[in-house]
Amino acid sequence: MLLNSSDAEWYRILHYFPWEDYGEIAAQYYDALYHFNLLEAQKREEKELNRAESWNESKEEAIQRFLFDRPTINKSVPVIHDEEFEAPPLRTVNPSSLAPGIVPDRLGGKKPKCFFALFKGFLGATLMGFPPEPEMVHLLLTSNLPFARVCGFVPKGENSVYWYKHVPSLRKLEQFDMIMTNYGLWSQLKWDEVRRNIEEGVIHKENELVGDTTHYHAYSNFETVIYEDEKGKEQKKSQSKVTKKCHCENWETCPHPWELADDGAGTVVKSKSKMIWGHKASILGLPRQGVPLDAAAIADGATFDGETLFPHVERLFGHLPEVEPWFDRVLYDSACDNKVLKEKFQDEWGIDLKASFNPRRTKTVTDNLPRGMEKITPYGTVICEGGYEMDYKGARYESEKFIYQAPTGEDNAPVCLNCEHKMECCPHSNIGRIVNVSFDLLPHIDSEDPPMAKRFKAIMSRRPSVERMIKRLKCDLSDDRLKKRGNASFQAYLDKTMIAFHILLRN
Ligand SMILES: [Zn+2]
Repeated sequence: MLLNSSDAEWYRILHYFPWEDYGEIAAQYYDALYHFNLLEAQKREEKELNRAESWNESKEEAIQRFLFDRPTINKSVPVIHDEEFEAPPLRTVNPSSLAPGIVPDRLGGKKPKCFFALFKGFLGATLMGFPPEPEMVHLLLTSNLPFARVCGFVPKGENSVYWYKHVPSLRKLEQFDMIMTNYGLWSQLKWDEVRRNIEEGVIHKENELVGDTTHYHAYSNFETVIYEDEKGKEQKKSQSKVTKKCHCENWETCPHPWELADDGAGTVVKSKSKMIWGHKASILGLPRQGVPLDAAAIADGATFDGETLFPHVERLFGHLPEVEPWFDRVLYDSACDNKVLKEKFQDEWGIDLKASFNPRRTKTVTDNLPRGMEKITPYGTVICEGGYEMDYKGARYESEKFIYQAPTGEDNAPVCLNCEHKMECCPHSNIGRIVNVSFDLLPHIDSEDPPMAKRFKAIMSRRPSVERMIKRLKCDLSDDRLKKRGNASFQAYLDKTMIAFHILLRN
């Protein structure tokens, strides 16, 4: 019944899941799991031994150290979250020996849970629109029998002993998610899925790339830190609280290092009156198809939007070099309306950066206007005394003038013909008032690429496509309220939603 239900697409995708395509990542997972278990045992021993090593830093010193390591204060720190993954030293598992329900044999110890079943658990939760986190996967596996079965699990009876096919405990799901995150397997899968869709022609080539940022609410609190800037002036900044991982009684004197409780969280400024304590992600995608190619965690949530685009495009081309030759234009909002940045894109990749026009502090022009005109807005829109918006026609470069003409009304005749201002504006015109505006009157507008032009508007009309991609990732396939802390978890969260998006795209 679920297979035939149009509302249960998740079931069809999990039922026909092409596990053969995931043998390689499954083998890497089992190797990582083995390494992880070994490491855990070692760490426990080291903990005992390293008691003597002292970390001589007060809480206040730690807070200042973290503050000056943030890219919004220290310009030498990378803007995009730097992914550092662990790696198992050896490849021991052969991908061709694996299949759903068939897990590698190890000497001693219990059989591990099946990778394919665990992965389908996380994928299924995301496809149903739930956040891809262990708590949600556990809830679904224990409450929804068809879901548990289609993933490859069998419900656990009351007193039954461990069997690797039983629905996993919450702790086992947390461990799976942690290994997939720490060993970079979510990240690798994300890039694999995007690449597969390109190779199979599910994603078509486009000559434009679009970008934007979006925020997620952090699962933490902040404190206000007071510090001195380079001029010796006192400044304030919101920062994640600091904490320690150990269970010592006195954190002020114990030797273990301080850590940020939620690294990457920062104050995201939406407007003058709206600020959010959250994580920030940068999204890059194809505007015509509405497909995101990557979602990256920003190292500090407080980073200004204009600073994230360049390093993110760099990261995209690093991971997917095959798409670099596709693009001759990048679209962004006014945060990237910046001459230096545009030149950087030209120099580095020969890409034309088109940003929504930002008039900055320019005021409406009301003086020295051509006859009959009331004002020119900072965006270069001319309004006449009759209240009509003049049509922009183009520029005349020899005489350095922008040309506008009166619009036509419903009867296709120029609006000027019946206008009460016609006598003092254009008494002899039959085609409607034509206005020449000197470039000097609008010095902030680039005459080579004026935002009033139809071409500019047509190109920028594709920019909001990125808002729809963000909605799909953030609302349809997950949730904008995070349940975990730190940027590594946040990046994994983004990767898990991207994986589900691209699998869904193929189906
Ligand atoms: Zn301690």
